[in-house]
Amino acid sequence: MLEKHPLCNHCLGRQFALLGYGLDNKKRGEALKLMLTMKGHKLALLREKAGVSLLKTMATNGSFDMAAEILRKTKKRVGKRRECHLCEGQFKLLQELVDSSVEKLQDYEYGTFLVGIELPTNVEEREDEFKAEFAVKHGESMRNEFSRNIGKKLSEITQKTTEYAKPEVVVLVNPFTKQVTLQVNPLYIMGRYKKLIRGIPQSKWLCSECRGKGCPRCNGTGKMYSESVEEIIAGPTLQKTCGEETAFHAAGREDVDARMLGPGRPFIIEVKKPKKRFINLQNLARTINKQAEDKVKVLNLCVADRDMVRKLKKAEAAQKIYKVIVEFDRNISDEELEALEKTLTNLLVHQQTPLRVLHRRADRIREKHIYTTKIKRLKPSRVEMRIRCQGGLYIKELITGDEGRTDPNVTKIVNAKAKPLELDVLNVVMEGS
Ligand SMILES: [Zn+2]
Ligand SMILES: [Zn+2]
Repeated sequence: MLEKHPLCNHCLGRQFALLGYGLDNKKRGEALKLMLTMKGHKLALLREKAGVSLLKTMATNGSFDMAAEILRKTKKRVGKRRECHLCEGQFKLLQELVDSSVEKLQDYEYGTFLVGIELPTNVEEREDEFKAEFAVKHGESMRNEFSRNIGKKLSEITQKTTEYAKPEVVVLVNPFTKQVTLQVNPLYIMGRYKKLIRGIPQSKWLCSECRGKGCPRCNGTGKMYSESVEEIIAGPTLQKTCGEETAFHAAGREDVDARMLGPGRPFIIEVKKPKKRFINLQNLARTINKQAEDKVKVLNLCVADRDMVRKLKKAEAAQKIYKVIVEFDRNISDEELEALEKTLTNLLVHQQTPLRVLHRRADRIREKHIYTTKIKRLKPSRVEMRIRCQGGLYIKELITGDEGRTDPNVTKIVNAKAKPLELDVLNVVMEGS
């Protein structure tokens, strides 16, 4: 190998990485060069030509000091050291790469990390050709050696652990450009929220007139509503984690004019590029609830991960329990209420996308189950209904019928025009909770 190409200790040793235990590639390379130099020295002492030529190879392509020294002492021409054919000498920069990684990492709190290596294509191709040329069978890749070495030094310095599946920070190192970039993975905080008043949307709702730029309609705020559950939770969260931005995920959503009561709705707030991730969640909950002034309340905050976001989205179809106050356009008899309660139990409802959400959802018919309904009379023409149903059923439309798009519906069953006055979500039942 060395006869043909100059190789540093790392790159020579790496071709035999699977041979021998407990020594790194650099030591392997050194040992091989030492052995060959000793062999060259022996042959040279026997006045064999091959000896001097082997020593010359070690001094030039091997950049091996001992070989150069022997040649010098025997008054032979030494020749110039040559830069490594594979890494172009980048393994000498290992410490420099580690130092700049440590410096970048200082700005962030994390417990686990992973080192990723970016190599120029020509470097990788050159290594592949080299391995093919010498039929290397017990070697390791340059990428591996870089990431293993840098990872080991980083974990010694920072006292953090390497984690392959879900690292909190990925340190991307390009040894050839000396660029170090951090990919800081998001922090996920899970909990439940209650919305105790009406008139707040779940997520930030851009002004339909100006799409967020600000116009007279929205008083320059760019928003339809001055606040949202998302913003109320995101504000303090962003502040405490020093993140760049947040994304809000929830198991379904309630209407702006519906409250979210009971044990609350499961949500996950995702903080992108958090500088702090070991925050006191009880403290955070307290701050959010204080600033929310009894409009919104968060509870059960805990750390989550990306998989749970997916589960949460699936849970949108989980069971929901609603409370709705319904006003009829005439007085309703007890018999009628009894019949209604019976009809609205174990019922399959065909619901075409409501007119009011047509602008954001595809127009199609969905089948949703109602499991149970309990009805309580409030006035001759007014009742309170508690409906336990499959998630995704639009309750307001179940009451009005939405011009026949929801079938069956309360208006049709009772044969009296029914109107929802107040809607509350009492529970979002998550699987396994
Ligand atoms: Zn090298
Ligand atoms: Zn506007």
